[in-house]
Amino acid sequence: MAKLYFRHGTVGSAKTLNLLAVAHNYERQGKKVVVIKPGFDDRYGTKEVASRAGLHREAHIILSASGRLDRSMFEDAQCVLVDEVQFLTARHIDQLRDISDQVGVPVICYGLRTDFRSKLFEGSRRLMELADSIEEVKTTCHRCNRKAIFNLKCVDGVALLDGPSQQVGGDEIFQPVCSLHYVEALNLDGVEGIDEDIAESELTT
Ligand SMILES: [Zn+2]
Repeated sequence: MAKLYFRHGTVGSAKTLNLLAVAHNYERQGKKVVVIKPGFDDRYGTKEVASRAGLHREAHIILSASGRLDRSMFEDAQCVLVDEVQFLTARHIDQLRDISDQVGVPVICYGLRTDFRSKLFEGSRRLMELADSIEEVKTTCHRCNRKAIFNLKCVDGVALLDGPSQQVGGDEIFQPVCSLHYVEALNLDGVEGIDEDIAESELTT
């Protein structure tokens, strides 16, 4: 039976590279893949699915928040691949579950588990609930050799828990970090301080 997969990892864990390799392997055997990405991730141009390692290809489906995935779109596909799946809605994940079951095609979703505030994304939460298989794509902390589990947001070199996810005019980057370095960079006593800090920043903005 076809499965629904969630392969999650922090920023810089080569998730897209993994996706591109899977697509390449299917196509080399003459099998059709369908690549989906969310509409508003325009990091590398709207249609492009691009890895930091330099490989890229075009997505077949650019999915907006109100867009719908219909089973008929996947009938001749051997594999469905989703990039940046954290930005999909819970309803999209429900539709992917149905496609996997009813069309009988494996659906492999790649994305972040949590945002820079350490909270689950909507799409990732629903995948945690519905996926047959949950796998971690691992990478090491930017500041030590422990496994990274957080995405630290830095604007102009300062680690932040507040602000919009896209900073206009600022030099914003995300770093994969371990829990020790996440807490240290944000000047917190421990992860218990995260919610307090978020609440404070919301009061002042
Ligand atoms: Zn670390």
